[in-house]
Parts: sequence; C-alpha cells; structure tokens
Amino acid sequence: MFLTEIMGVGDELLYGETVDTNTAELARSLQPYALKIFRTLRVADDLSALSSELRQAWNSAHLTILSGGLGPTPDDITREAIAQALGEDLELDEVMLEHIRSIFSKRGWAMPESNRKQAQKIASATWLQNPRGTAPGWWIHKDGRDLVALPGPPAEWRPMWAELLPKLNLPTQPYAQKTFKTFGIGESKIAEDLGNLFLREGLVQVGTYAKAHGVEVVVRGEPAGVANLARAIQPKLEANLWGQDSDTLPSVILHQLEATGATLATMESLSGGTLGGLITEVAGASRVYVGGMVAYSPQAKRQFGVSEEALSHGMVSEECARAMAEAARSRLGATYALSTTGVAGPDELEGQPVGTVLVALAGPSGTEVRKNRFPPYGREFIRVRAAYAALALLRGELM
Ligand code: ATP
Ligand code: MG
Repeated sequence: MFLTEIMGVGDELLYGETVDTNTAELARSLQPYALKIFRTLRVADDLSALSSELRQAWNSAHLTILSGGLGPTPDDITREAIAQALGEDLELDEVMLEHIRSIFSKRGWAMPESNRKQAQKIASATWLQNPRGTAPGWWIHKDGRDLVALPGPPAEWRPMWAELLPKLNLPTQPYAQKTFKTFGIGESKIAEDLGNLFLREGLVQVGTYAKAHGVEVVVRGEPAGVANLARAIQPKLEANLWGQDSDTLPSVILHQLEATGATLATMESLSGGTLGGLITEVAGASRVYVGGMVAYSPQAKRQFGVSEEALSHGMVSEECARAMAEAARSRLGATYALSTTGVAGPDELEGQPVGTVLVALAGPSGTEVRKNRFPPYGREFIRVRAAYAALALLRGELM
C-alpha cells in the first residue's frame, strides 16, 4: 500500500482563522491514484513540532505533501523543519537568489533581506518554480520516498502542483467519478429512494453531500462499476436533477437560455442581490441577464411596479412574489424573470417563521410561485438558499 500524508502548516490553520482547504484540495487531486491517505494534519508554525511530525511522516509515508510556511518571515519555518527532519543543511542557491531579486526589481522594488531565506534549500531538494510568487517549493525524492513542500496561497501552489504531479509517478488505479446534482430533496429521502443502490463499500461507493445548491450524489471508484451504478441511479433522481459533474446551476441555466435567445431579469427582496451575484459569476452572463432590482422595502417594490393590491397581502406572500417577478419581467422586457421574498431572520415577519422563502418565475407561459421552508441557520444560509431556490425553479421550467 502506497501511504500518503498531507499537512497544512501555519498557526492560522490551528486557530481557525484560515480553513485548511489546501489539504482537502490536495487530497482530492490524488483520487485517481492507488494510494492511501492515512493521515492529514495541521501543524503550528513551530520548528520542533513540525520537524518531529516530518520525521514521523518520512518514516511511515511514501509521499508527504505540505503547504504553507515558505514565506520570508521568521514564522515561516517549513524549510528549516524539513532540513532538521532529514538531517541536512540549508544552503543558499545564488541563482535562485538572483531570480527572487529579479521578481522584486521588475516591480521596481529592492528585495528585502528577509527574502534571502527563500533561496535556501537542502542538497536533496529540487526547486519547484513558483510562477506567481516569490516562494519556490521543494521536491525531495530520496530513498524511494517523496516529500513536497508547496507555498500556502492556492493561486501559487496550484500550477506548481499540476506540473509536479505527473512527475511523481504515483501508482495509478482506474478511477472514475460521477456527480449528480439535485434540488428540493433531502439526503435521507435520497438514501431511501436509492435503497440498495446506496453502496458504501466495495469497488464502487456512493456518497451524498448537502450543498447550498442542493444535495449532490457522488458515485466513485472503479470505472465500469461507476458507469453501471450511475446508470441505475440516474432515473431515481431524475425528478430533482438539475446537473452533473462540473455543472453549476447558474451556468446550465444561462447556457440553456442563450441557446434559445431568451433573456432573464430578477427582482430580489430577502436575497439582497445574491441571486444577481450568482448569475453574474458566469462568464458571458451579459448575453442573457438583462439585470435586476434589489427591492428590499415596500417603497422600492412599489417603485419597481409591484401593485398596492399585491403588497396588501404582505411582503412574505405568494401574491407579492408573483407581482415582483411579473414587474421585473415587464419593466426590463425579459423573457423570464425571477423574484425572491421571505424571512431571513433573526425575527419572524408577518407571522411567518424565519426561513420562509417564496420564489417566483414569470415567463411566456405564465407565473409560478414556490414556497420553501429552510432551516433557520442564519441570514447568509437563507439568502443563498433563496437564490438557489429561484434558480432551481427556472431550471425546472426549462426542462
Ligand atoms: P507566503 O510567501 O505567501 O507567505 P507561505 O508559503 O509562507 O507563502 P503561508 O504564510 O503559510 O504561506 O500562507 C499564506 C496564505 O496562504 C495564507 O494567509 C492563506 O490565505 C493561504 N493558506 C495557507 N495555508 C492554507 C491552507 N492550508 N488552506 C488554505 N489557504 C491557505
Ligand atoms: Mg507566510
């Protein structure tokens, strides 16, 4: 068994100021390989703690990957810790020093003396060039083992890791993964619907993951088995399925609308622009998305064309959601318009509990309203879910 260990280095990771997403992302990148990740950990900016963890990893793992602590400041101790763990000395590499100096001079700055240490390495390490920063990484291949040290910022280490990964010659295994993306159905209902297709052990496994855009069902493992199981699972999810694999809800919708020359507008109350934000994350959104209004108060809703009659039912009402979508559609002359209204909390509104969300879709064939009740897990949670609920309503209509 090819054993692998991944570490995130930095006090900020231990105190929760930064979430260690590097370790998770590195682990995901190893899924196609036949190896066992037997330990992941977060280690403080502490020379003796890190060198002792590294010694242990070097003795037990075939591959050790760490991120962070390659910066120029005194708390960046990854280089020193590796040198100590492997019993080697740090040596200054003049060529690398000149390279780092040139990065500064290109920006018109003198290199601070503290950056000298980034040009130090041990003899058994080779440099991993960092195209986006001053901190080069290290790759040590020695005694049939590999140790990789990457800088902390994802934008810096991603290209470095992508270049190195194939060179590591890791044992491969045939691996495939299929992700089904659903909305409007809970994990336990999915598990019930899948019944004995919900395989947990063996060559192919199934997992469900609750995300803001709905529950994802992931099938992973041996490719032929994944294909077979995915084929059996898909029909069971069909009624709630909006996408697969790398699809995002806004992107599938925008591509669908663009293909038919349709346009989209929004009027948001409780989501306060989150819906428009999600839509405009997609490159090329301007070809479809006309724009939207954040109509938070009754005055604003009135101003943007919501009738007194609709408002008389309250802001958290089907009538209001409907009128908002219709007003956005006619004011902005779009093929479709989405609206959101509801109660983000912390207090209830108009006698409706926190988490009550109405979304409406106005389109060529009329207006549809859907009422949701999300758990009261905070304003951000509810706003984001409201935006996805609106998108899911449109996706349902387009299918
Ligand atoms: P730099 O030269 O930028 O200081 P570094 O290798 O010293 O690089 P760190 O100082 O450890 O890296 O981290 C720099 C930044 O990278 C952190 O502030 C954080 O934004 C991000 N980062 C570091 N480690 C992680 C991690 N494990 N997960 C997610 N982000 C991280
Ligand atoms: Mg740093």
